Amino acid sequence: MNTKRRTAIVTGAARGIGAAIARRLAADGMAVAVIDLDESACADTTGSINDAGGTAMALAADVADEAAVNKAVAGVADALGPPTVLVNNAGVTRDDLLFKMTAQDWDTVVNVHLRGSFLMSRAVQGHMVEAGFGRIVNLSSTSALGNRGQANYAAAKAGLQGFTKTLAIELGRYGVTANAIAPGFIETEMTAATAQRLGMDFADLKKAAADQIAVGRTGRPDDIAHAAAFLAGEEAGFVSGQVLYVAGGPTN
Ligand code: NAD
Repeated sequence: MNTKRRTAIVTGAARGIGAAIARRLAADGMAVAVIDLDESACADTTGSINDAGGTAMALAADVADEAAVNKAVAGVADALGPPTVLVNNAGVTRDDLLFKMTAQDWDTVVNVHLRGSFLMSRAVQGHMVEAGFGRIVNLSSTSALGNRGQANYAAAKAGLQGFTKTLAIELGRYGVTANAIAPGFIETEMTAATAQRLGMDFADLKKAAADQIAVGRTGRPDDIAHAAAFLAGEEAGFVSGQVLYVAGGPTN
């Protein structure tokens, strides 16, 4: 149980994994700021939190835009109090084999994941240090281990692991932990889009993926929300700089 009401920011929380994390942190007693590209797209997430008796607000920001990030974090601090929990979840894919990958597709993916997580963490860390408490959770991926067609995404997700460990080292003395979750296949619009790109039915892609997963099923956003709730919780203060693979089995 939280002894004190915390304010959390979850990026990319209009849908998918981010929405599940936002709902779970709110259910655990946190006030939650839902950040995504389009404020109106956040209405489902904030509406369900507020309907359940929680506190949520929506803000539009592109996490790769420095001015927008600083403005959004200041807005959260004003409206909900200093943010001391940050989940860097916003993400995009621009998959292609290396020889076809455009520089634009490289930059877009690296900017959203790496620059976005950097800008958000830098904007929030002052509030955490001042509070003597903070929890940063970054969304990596099993793709960090290498994945055909995802040179940009794999590099960004591996980069996030080094970023996470460095934040843990720099901020630990201020009561701030930083950890990464590396999901395997999770059923969201992101993986549905992958099926479309491959010319496959989503059900067939899920079945093919499940056949390769030890627990025999693909993941759901709530599987990641459970892990995020643990890492963001009060009691997880001695867990820092870790990468938790949430993938239904061991990873190589
Ligand atoms: P999703 O595409 O369903 O949702 C991503 C959200 O991020 C969207 O609401 C989108 O609008 C938002 N977003 C994108 N760019 C943004 C930006 N610049 N600024 C603010 N918001 C932005 O994806 P998801 O499957 O829910 O994935 C969430 C995170 O988990 C991502 O970081 C993704 O890379 C990671 N992940 C997903 C899977 C999976 O199988 N779905 C596996 C491993 C890791």
